[in-house]
Amino acid sequence: MLRVSSVNRTFGDRRVLDDISFEVAPGRMTGFVGANGAGKTTSMRIILGLLAADSGTVSWHGAPITRAVRQRFGYMPEERGLYPKMKVREQLTYLGRLYGLGAADARRSVDELLDRMGLTERADDLLETLSLGNQQRAQVAAALVHDPELLILDEPFSGLDPIAVDVVAGVLRERAADGVPVLFSSHQLDVVERLCDDLVIIAAGAVRATGSRTELRSRYAAARYELVVD
Ligand code: ATP
Repeated sequence: MLRVSSVNRTFGDRRVLDDISFEVAPGRMTGFVGANGAGKTTSMRIILGLLAADSGTVSWHGAPITRAVRQRFGYMPEERGLYPKMKVREQLTYLGRLYGLGAADARRSVDELLDRMGLTERADDLLETLSLGNQQRAQVAAALVHDPELLILDEPFSGLDPIAVDVVAGVLRERAADGVPVLFSSHQLDVVERLCDDLVIIAAGAVRATGSRTELRSRYAAARYELVVD
């Protein structure tokens, strides 16, 4: 279980996160939804220790997150991480090795991911020669290659066509079914609503609502959550 408790962050005199608290449970896909600039990326970077909070805590199974623990997390950053001029399989294998997988395990994990993502035929092409949708599939694969214990993905579905959304969501859902907590951000409520089990709704740096999709649906049935998001 990932727990974010009362996290605050300012940039200059601007409060970007205001007492943020939420949980991401094992086996659940949690959608982190809010408009551009709401504070999703900042929250994710704080969870991953890439940015410090001014106050508040982030814990994993009840303990603070150390560097060794963080190595076992998977992260797809907003700015993406793969190199355009490297071959897809080569990069994913390199990443797997960087995360400590042996050569055979890295190869097995990468081959399986390429297959699940529908990228096997493009495996030996330079990333930049792939369509944007396929590049994004590869970027998601990069976050999964070391079989992470927690998955944090910044806008993994943005810009994907409906088929690619289903492919990527299917792979993430499998990981969730294996007990991995999955947190993914989106500014598209319809996408999140379709794909997640739980929601965290953030607006202007504050959490407006959390709960299961069914709970929130009934709670906000009349108002719709757009009102909460805006
Ligand atoms: P987006 O989808 O546009 O990235 P977001 O919900 O992820 O939106 P954040 O990227 O977390 O939002 O940004 C929250 C606010 O903090 C924004 O107003 C942004 O301009 C501001 N911000 C983020 N990083 C910095 C920084 N390094 N310095 C100053 N302001 C920042």
